[in-house]
Amino acid sequence: MTAPQPSTPPPQKTGIRVLVVGAGFAGLTAAIECHRHGHSVTLLEKFPELKLLGDIISFAPNSSRIFQRWPGVAEQLEPISHRADGLTIKTWTGETLLTQTWSAEEASWGIRYDGHRGEFHEIVYRHARDVLGIDVRLGARVEDYFEDESEAGVLLEGGERITADVVLAAEGVRSRGRKIVLGFEDKPKASGYAVYRSWFDADEISKDPDLKFLTDYGDKHVCWLGPDVHFIAASIKKGQDFSWVCTHKDDQDIEESWQLEAPLSDARKVLEGWDPIVQKILDKTPSPLIDWKLVYRDPLPTWISGGRRIALLGDAAHPFLPTSIQGASQAMEDGATAAVCLRRAGADRVQEAVAAFEALRYERVRSAQKTGEQTRDIWHKADFAAARDNPDRLRLRREAWLLDFDAEAYAEANYARTVEVLREGGGGEEAMMRARKMHVPEGRDGYLEYND
Ligand SMILES: Cc1cc2nc3c(=O)[nH]c(=O)nc-3n(C[C@H](O)[C@H](O)[C@H](O)COP(=O)(O)OP(=O)(O)OC[C@H]3O[C@@H](n4cnc5c(N)ncnc54)[C@H](O)[C@@H]3O)c2cc1C
Repeated sequence: MTAPQPSTPPPQKTGIRVLVVGAGFAGLTAAIECHRHGHSVTLLEKFPELKLLGDIISFAPNSSRIFQRWPGVAEQLEPISHRADGLTIKTWTGETLLTQTWSAEEASWGIRYDGHRGEFHEIVYRHARDVLGIDVRLGARVEDYFEDESEAGVLLEGGERITADVVLAAEGVRSRGRKIVLGFEDKPKASGYAVYRSWFDADEISKDPDLKFLTDYGDKHVCWLGPDVHFIAASIKKGQDFSWVCTHKDDQDIEESWQLEAPLSDARKVLEGWDPIVQKILDKTPSPLIDWKLVYRDPLPTWISGGRRIALLGDAAHPFLPTSIQGASQAMEDGATAAVCLRRAGADRVQEAVAAFEALRYERVRSAQKTGEQTRDIWHKADFAAARDNPDRLRLRREAWLLDFDAEAYAEANYARTVEVLREGGGGEEAMMRARKMHVPEGRDGYLEYND
């Protein structure tokens, strides 16, 4: 697929008022794309100020091309992105099983941007607020949602009510918007896994003769697999920064917060007896770690409200396992798709746009979520004897249906026929199911139990 064209001047104003809740990557993308497509946008975020939170995050070619449409953004992301040639996969004892390279993928599908979540977020946030002038309200915590036939809105902490033609609820895994969409309070569930996470200056790594291979020749990416645990280390910015994540079993109650901390000694227990290189990385790691309890839910039956003026986007609709490496990318695709649907529908048919948004996205997202389950199972239950004969069994699945995809172009090409099916069926549940089925991805090689 060829690289997308940079943003053209906004098309005519559509007159559609869009309220976006949550300035994560789903909400920011929805806001920027809605602005690009001529809608009038207000973005509400509960955080009172912007902070450089998080550590490593990945944007695959399917979302990189969305960044590339925003003038100046990809250029800022590039120098702070991780640029390893490939991923080396090892056993927990340190035996190398395979190195998977990216050059062919990059040549045909485009590059990825992997880097610090806070640094990337700041660039995108500033693009939305300072470059495009989008109305962003920090310190605006949404308490509740409402809708009627003619509009939708939110109630803020403190009592202020704000209305619009459509509300895009992108407030992450603890979404309050889910209540009006599902009709009941939906509590997040523990996935049974948690991730220890760390990001630090690579200076100490590069000084150690046994570790300097991780930083000396640019960026490196190495993954160690053990029983129901994996540990992935990456150097970033030409070996200046270092980050690792360790996904492990965890049966504690979930507190989905990026501030949660765990002492380094907790990770040492999980990784006891692993490759001496892993032990040395731990020796150089500052304590405490971030302890991220993974939330993973069954797919929501729907992402849109009964009145079809409120839609869930990103993690609010579909949290991802990190092994899919698609959570942030799918969140961005949601935003790009919603903006196209609204423009194609026009101000008088906003509800149709919301229904088409769900139909266009639902099966693709579900299929992408499955890739994370499958990689986790392959990695965490790895049969090393079999992998020595056929190391390819452990490679990360990288497939065209998922990565060589342009959400904006797909929505433009498929909006009309999706709406046709919705209209033919009177817009009811059966029509929605038929419309969703039109967008089951093709060519899902390697994935089991698809859409069963
Ligand atoms: C602070 C933070 C750090 C993260 N760090 C990483 C990381 O290092 N690596 C990684 O892979 N993923 C990280 N994630 C998760 C990752 O960004 C998401 O999984 C993915 O990008 C999908 O984004 P999202 O926009 O759907 O959700 P989120 O990124 O969770 O964004 C949701 C936004 O909504 C806001 N919000 C929530 N409730 C309300 C409310 N009631 N009213 C108004 N605003 C509200 C939140 O403050 C947040 O800004 C982080 C998320 C957060 C919030």
